[in-house]
Amino acid sequence: MTDADPLRLLAVHAHPDDESSKGAATMAKYVAEGVQVMVATCTGGERGSVLNPALDRPEVWERLPQLRAEEMARAREILGVQQEFLGFVDSGLPEGDPLPPLPEGCFALVPTEEAAAPLVGLIRRFRPHVVLTYDERGGYPHPDHVKTHDVSVLAFEAAGDPERYPDLGEPWQPSKLYYQMGFTLTRTRALHEAMLETGAESPYAEWLAGWDPERDMSHRVTTRVPCAEYFPVRDAALIAHATQIDPQGRWFACPMDLQQRVWPTEDYELARSLVDSTLPEDDLFAGIRSEVPVP
Ligand SMILES: [Zn+2]
Repeated sequence: MTDADPLRLLAVHAHPDDESSKGAATMAKYVAEGVQVMVATCTGGERGSVLNPALDRPEVWERLPQLRAEEMARAREILGVQQEFLGFVDSGLPEGDPLPPLPEGCFALVPTEEAAAPLVGLIRRFRPHVVLTYDERGGYPHPDHVKTHDVSVLAFEAAGDPERYPDLGEPWQPSKLYYQMGFTLTRTRALHEAMLETGAESPYAEWLAGWDPERDMSHRVTTRVPCAEYFPVRDAALIAHATQIDPQGRWFACPMDLQQRVWPTEDYELARSLVDSTLPEDDLFAGIRSEVPVP
């Protein structure tokens, strides 16, 4: 790896805070190794709620879009990553039966070809070797997360093609595309059982009870990145999103040392690859490192 051409990782996320709850320790680990890491945040999170009871006040709600940008800036510093907003408007999480229509002009309603353009431009400028995004169900049923998957897949395919988006810069083809697989049934069950063994109350019981095993993604994991050492950095970045995270909540109920011992990795599915690597992997850059010039 040379200073002139270091390895580069691009993580595409829907809202500010998603980068801190999905793959954050992986990013911090690669930053520490000298990899350049960029987070692309599709929306400004304008339609999020205030999820921290301590901050659920009118003056916080009024300034929410601005606060979320400030929180993102703090998390970016903690993780040591670069970050850009792609400029779309949060679709909000529709609730009710029947579900209300999505608000006009929101990210999820932008045609995918058009919505992928800023990401194609960013891929051609930043030239990542590896791109991280969500699986086809968004990993979580929020319309912006599903749209994030769609634009990431389209941009991964299109960025290297000179015929597509010809005005958005020199083509660049990333080598690997991964889906985030951090919240599997297997992992949650392992943490749950380990907590019960210590005699503690598990924060996962309710979550596990409602989990349809058919919807578990454990079997799709191809790549487990050891990054336990960076779990505290992940938590610090999450806490920086103060309006979105209750520091007394479930996220932080599982003791750090137990997490580091029971599940010391963040997990991914290799969805597309233009290089050879042997599965299972423990490195997102497996098969790429040898091709990047070494001094
Ligand atoms: Zn989100």
